[in-house]
Amino acid sequence: MTKRGTGTVYLVGAGPGDPGLLTIRAAEVLSRADVVVTDALVHPAIVDRYAPRAERIDVGKRGGRPSPRQEDINQLLVDLAQRYRVVVRLKGGDPFVFGRGGEEAEALAKAGVPFEVVPGITAGVAAPAYAGIPVTHRELASWVVLATGHEDPHRENVRTGWATYAPGATVVVYMGMMRLRANVAQLERGGWPTDTPAAVVAWGTWPRQRTVVAPLGQIAEAVMAAGLSAPALLVVGDVVRLRDRLAWFERRPLFGQRVVVTRARAQASALRARLEELGAEAIEFPTIRIGPSPEPERVRHAVARLGTYDWVVFTSGNGVSEVWRYLEAEGRDARAFGEVRIAAIGPATAAALAEHGLRADCVPERYDSEAVATALEARDTLAGRRVLLLRAREGRAILPERLRRAGAHVDDVSVYVIEPDATGAEDLRRELEAGAVDWVLFTASSTVRNFVSAVGTRLGRARVAAIGPVTAETARACGLRVDVTAEEYTIDGLLASLVQVGGAERTVA
Ligand code: SAH
Repeated sequence: MTKRGTGTVYLVGAGPGDPGLLTIRAAEVLSRADVVVTDALVHPAIVDRYAPRAERIDVGKRGGRPSPRQEDINQLLVDLAQRYRVVVRLKGGDPFVFGRGGEEAEALAKAGVPFEVVPGITAGVAAPAYAGIPVTHRELASWVVLATGHEDPHRENVRTGWATYAPGATVVVYMGMMRLRANVAQLERGGWPTDTPAAVVAWGTWPRQRTVVAPLGQIAEAVMAAGLSAPALLVVGDVVRLRDRLAWFERRPLFGQRVVVTRARAQASALRARLEELGAEAIEFPTIRIGPSPEPERVRHAVARLGTYDWVVFTSGNGVSEVWRYLEAEGRDARAFGEVRIAAIGPATAAALAEHGLRADCVPERYDSEAVATALEARDTLAGRRVLLLRAREGRAILPERLRRAGAHVDDVSVYVIEPDATGAEDLRRELEAGAVDWVLFTASSTVRNFVSAVGTRLGRARVAAIGPVTAETARACGLRVDVTAEEYTIDGLLASLVQVGGAERTVA
C-alpha cells in the first residue's frame, strides 16, 4: 500500500569515511535531496559536497549527546516523507550491514512510504582494504564472516556461532571495541588459535586511520597500548599477514597530515583533491571569495574592444572565467580576441585560456607580476603599445607601473574582486589551539592577510607553507613563521615541497 502524495525515502550508504568511496548513485540521489538525515560516522564533506542545499538532520550520537531511539528515527523518516519529496537517510558504510537500515525499511514499508535502497561500501571490507588486508585470498581465505561484537546480551547464547573456529575464514568484527577482550575470548573459546594473525583498524579510510597488528591472544593489549578508539574493526585470519607488503594507504607521502587550505572556494577543490591523493586531510578555510567586478561598465567597454589592443594580460584563471561571462553575455566567443597577443601569468592561467581555445603567446618562467613585465619587455618593444590587464582589483601595482615605465598605454581593468570570507574561523581557531592541524597553506598574499585577520597568528603546532617568496614575505610581515616556501611557485611546487619535508621527517621517524 503506497500513500499518495508522499515523498520517497532513500536509504543510502555513505561508505566507510573517505568521501571518494561514495557510490555514483548515492551522489546522484543526494543532489536531489530536500532533506538529509545523517549518522555520526558519515563524513561531513559528503553532505557539504553533494547536497549543499538540503536541510540536514543529524541523528547520530556525538559528544555525549545520547542517540535518539531507533523508533524515533523510524517515525522521523515516515514524517519527513509527508513533508518532502526526496528524503535521504544517509548511513555509514552499507545501510543493511549492521546499520539498522533493515528496521528503518520495515517501518517505511509498514507505513506505506515508498523507499529505495542505495548500497554502500561496508567498512568491514573497505577498512581492511585500506589497511592492506584483502578479506579473501586464493591461498589464505575463502570465506568471510561479518559479525557484530556488540550483541544484544539477551541473545548472546544463541548468536555466538560467528566465533567458532573456521579454517580458511576471515572474521571481521564490527562494533567490537567496547567488548574487545570478551570478543577475543569468544573466538578463543570457539577454537581459534591464540597465534592467529589479528588486526584492529580504527577510522579506516579516514586520514586518521590507524592499524594495530598482533597475534589474537595479544591484540586487546596492543590496541590498549596504542590508544586506538572507535570506530574500529577487528580482523582475524591469515590474510592479516599480507598487510606487511600491501599497506598502501598509510604509506602515502602526506598520510595523516591535516592541512588547512586557504584558497577561494572555487579553486580549493582542485587543491583538496591533490592533497587527498597524497594522503592528507584537507580542511578548507577559503578566507576569500570571488566577487563581481566593481566596474562592470569598464569591463564591458574593454571586452568590446579586445581586438584593438596589442597585448591582453591574464593573471589568474578567475580572470579568464569572469571575462568569459562578459563575452558570453554578449553572445561572443574566442574570436573577440582577433589578432591580439595574450600573456598568462602561469600554466594554470594558460590552461584556463586553452579551455576556451586560446593559446597564450607569453607565459613567463616564473609566475609573478615582475616576471610578466620582464617577459613582455623581452618579447616586444612596449613603447606605444596598448596593453589591457584583466585581473583582480587587488592585483599588485608593480605590473602596470613597470609596463608604463616601458612606454606602454595600460588599461588596468578589475574583472573581479577578492572579498574576505571568515566563515568557520571560530572552529578553525579551536582546532589550531588543540594542536589538531599540521599545516596551513597560503597560495597568495591576500589569503594570508584575510586568514590572519579572521583567525589570528596562534597556529598551535601547525606549520606554514607559502607558494612563493612574495606570499612568504607577507606571512612574515603579518607575524607568522614560514616553515616552507615552494621552490616552484605553483600548487604543484607547493605540494612537492610539503612532500619533501614530510618525506624527510618520515625517514627520521
Ligand atoms: N553500516 C556500517 C556499519 C555500522 S556499525 C557499514 O556497513 O560499515 C558501526 C561499526 O562499523 C563500528 O563500530 C565499527 O566497527 C565499524 N566501522 C564503521 N566505520 C568504520 C571505519 N571507518 N573504520 C573502522 N570501522 C568502522
